[in-house]
Amino acid sequence: MAEKEIEELPGVGPATAEKLRDAGYTDLMSIAVESPKNLAETCEIGEAAAAKIIAAAKEAADVGGFEPGDVILERRQNMKKLTSSSKAFDELMGGGFETQAITEFFGEFGSGKTQICFQLAVNAGLPYEKGGLEGEVIVIDTENTFRPERISQIARSMDVDPIEALHKIHVARAFNSSHQMLLVEKAVEMSHTIPVRLLIVDSLTAHFRAEYVGRGALAERQQLLNKHLHDLLRFGDLTNSVVAVTNQVSAKPDAFFGDPTRPIGGHIVGHAATYRLYLRKSKGGKRIARLIDSPNLPEAEAVFTVSEEGIRD
Ligand code: ADP
Ligand code: MG
Repeated sequence: MAEKEIEELPGVGPATAEKLRDAGYTDLMSIAVESPKNLAETCEIGEAAAAKIIAAAKEAADVGGFEPGDVILERRQNMKKLTSSSKAFDELMGGGFETQAITEFFGEFGSGKTQICFQLAVNAGLPYEKGGLEGEVIVIDTENTFRPERISQIARSMDVDPIEALHKIHVARAFNSSHQMLLVEKAVEMSHTIPVRLLIVDSLTAHFRAEYVGRGALAERQQLLNKHLHDLLRFGDLTNSVVAVTNQVSAKPDAFFGDPTRPIGGHIVGHAATYRLYLRKSKGGKRIARLIDSPNLPEAEAVFTVSEEGIRD
């Protein structure tokens, strides 16, 4: 049975269909699982109209519910793994960083979060047999820490042409948290024309932390972060990409969570991120990554280094 096109839904004219597609709602399922409020905002229609479109999409889409394990296995077989360039780190991750998942790197300032992102950005362009994803990269840079010179350095150490590597990395500065969220929509659009396989948000939480200060703002901050993470996870699923986000541990106690070693976003990020890695500095310039709360891997640690060449054992 051929699935309906989104234009065939009642209440969806060509203009609305275009807005839906631009926002990444390319199939019925993505509409069926959306909330009326979000859909109304994205398509600039009333919430009642949005609710009708969602109801129709629910009926038309094969929402069917339960799938046999072997079907899930097949989808997961599309899933790819991206190398970190450290054998120990890859082993910790069960062979590398998974597509269709969010991986969160959290740790103090200088713990290596951004350096890992640089290394992954170069690696995503590598062929599969070298642990790459043969794809391009989108970077949402919120702290102005993207350094093309550093990408060149890392690329050169791997015998990759630096200009070629840089050409595949598309960087946007996010000026505030709403701009940051908007850039995910832009990334969805870009993924229609370029083969994006890695989306980096460095930092996921800095703008949110700066803008939503104090206890009173906490609920709104968490709600927005939750939506942002939901959008990121959807991006990972739709494009079979690795989604890598960073989260700085606050030096000062968080207004709500108190514990200075707890990443901001607390349980919100915790539930949405598939893999959480706590990074810390160790003796002799070594770094330690600790995998926390993974659905399929044991809690364990890996030792790696950050050098001029990038991430290594
Ligand atoms: P953050 O976790 O705050 O994002 P970074 O990932 O930027 O921190 O890590 C910064 C650290 O990376 C520096 O303290 C340094 O140890 C290391 N580093 C950065 N650039 C280089 C380089 N060119 N050569 C060697 N080490 C580097
Ligand atoms: Mg950083």
